[in-house]
Amino acid sequence: MTFRSHKSWDQRSREEYHRLQSRLLQTFLRRQVVPFSSHYRRVFAEAGVDPRSIRSPEDLQRLPFTTKNEIAPSPDDPQRPRGIVLHPTEELIRSHWPLTQQLSLKLRSLVRGKEAVRRHLALEYRPVSVFFTTGRSALPTAFLLSRYDLDILEEVGRRIVQVTGIHAQEDKIISLFPYAPHLAFWQVYYVGVGGGAFTLNTGGGKVMGTDGILQSIRRICPSYLVGIPGYVYHLLREAQSKSMDLSFLKGLALGGDAVTPGYRRRVKELMESMGAEDPKVVSVFGFTESRKCWTECEGEADAGFHTYPDLEIIEVVDPETGKPVPDGQTGELVYTGLVGRGSCVVRYRTGDVLVGGVSWKECPYCGRTVLRMASQIERVSNVKNFQLSKVKGTLVNLHLFKDILGNDQRIEEWQLVIKKRNDDPFDVDELHLNLALSSRVDESKTDEVRQSIQKHLFEVTEVNLNSIHVLPLDRVLDLLGMETQLKEKRVVDLRGQDSVSKETAKK
Ligand SMILES: [Zn+2]
Repeated sequence: MTFRSHKSWDQRSREEYHRLQSRLLQTFLRRQVVPFSSHYRRVFAEAGVDPRSIRSPEDLQRLPFTTKNEIAPSPDDPQRPRGIVLHPTEELIRSHWPLTQQLSLKLRSLVRGKEAVRRHLALEYRPVSVFFTTGRSALPTAFLLSRYDLDILEEVGRRIVQVTGIHAQEDKIISLFPYAPHLAFWQVYYVGVGGGAFTLNTGGGKVMGTDGILQSIRRICPSYLVGIPGYVYHLLREAQSKSMDLSFLKGLALGGDAVTPGYRRRVKELMESMGAEDPKVVSVFGFTESRKCWTECEGEADAGFHTYPDLEIIEVVDPETGKPVPDGQTGELVYTGLVGRGSCVVRYRTGDVLVGGVSWKECPYCGRTVLRMASQIERVSNVKNFQLSKVKGTLVNLHLFKDILGNDQRIEEWQLVIKKRNDDPFDVDELHLNLALSSRVDESKTDEVRQSIQKHLFEVTEVNLNSIHVLPLDRVLDLLGMETQLKEKRVVDLRGQDSVSKETAKK
């Protein structure tokens, strides 16, 4: 079976989507996930749930969640991620597929020969590519993709072009995503392939160097730059320092990190200062486990991420209780795929909190009727792991820091360092800030500005920084690893895994 996209994937009524999702979910669980994934065969059996009894998206609530730890490799079980890979055998097909489907397979092998059927199944199921999860916790988890899955990735690329309003014939794209076996780089590659838009995949500053990329921008005159917010900002600032003309630029598509309102304003100003007219800044969101990305439309953050109801079911749950919350209410994103081969997840808890939840209302900007996810996303773990609460008596939200520091015109770059006092794992947490001030700040005012930033941060976050170091821009760019890291080191946590687990053990 090859992957076929549904026509009018973005224009159906809520009832039609519900019917479609119910049908796809039934087929996918009964004929693919439960028969061919050893992990989910066991999960369904242990939960005592008959896959035939899951008939609609609401029925998913009877299934347990899938957590990161359950599918990540561990030192004792490095092969654990294989449990979620669909791996059909003749015996499994015989015992799980309905007779009609088995007969059609038999018929095909009579007509075309056994070898042709085997080749066909291999195209559908055999993994041909792999992405790895990122992040500092746990070992990276491999997510496998077959040819069938690459077709889906390509279809999603086509849809991203549609939703963002890129004109395939005239618009050119330069991608700044670092070359890596990660979703972001390859999703952009398939935006070019699926959407038919000319794309230069630079591999990022680490591969082509910022100067090399700027030269390509001069030659190619791209309509869109695509990349991680921190690096894109750095690149635009470099372009500005070289007085480049960017009047051909229509906008940015950003992924891999949060795009705050302050950031949006700032990069728009930067682009406009180089001649771009009314540039758009859209955010793109995805995670390895979903093996695809979603984007905002011309409505930017107000429109939210446009999902694909024929490819997935999005649930939003209370992160504490796991119970579903109503549309429009903040909660944790839980993901279930409805198509796909290779590594498949059901009710996967992402740890991402959608601030403002989801909406099925027609998008006021583009008129699509798909489910939209709120653009502001926070990590459950960020809030939980940040242990300053013990000292300062309040929970600290990293998002606030990003918003304030990213918004402050006096700040050019910044890096936040969290560490234990005296590097003693049992001591309290400390917060240090490295700052490069804007060239507009008079040098004689440095101390004054530093104190004012510290005061403002305290007023908003109720956390007093232990120190602020004002450093030259080059030095902060070095610390951030802007030219050397896959993603800049904006928040550095030096507390270490060990000290955290000891801390927990002590409680
Ligand atoms: Zn829209």
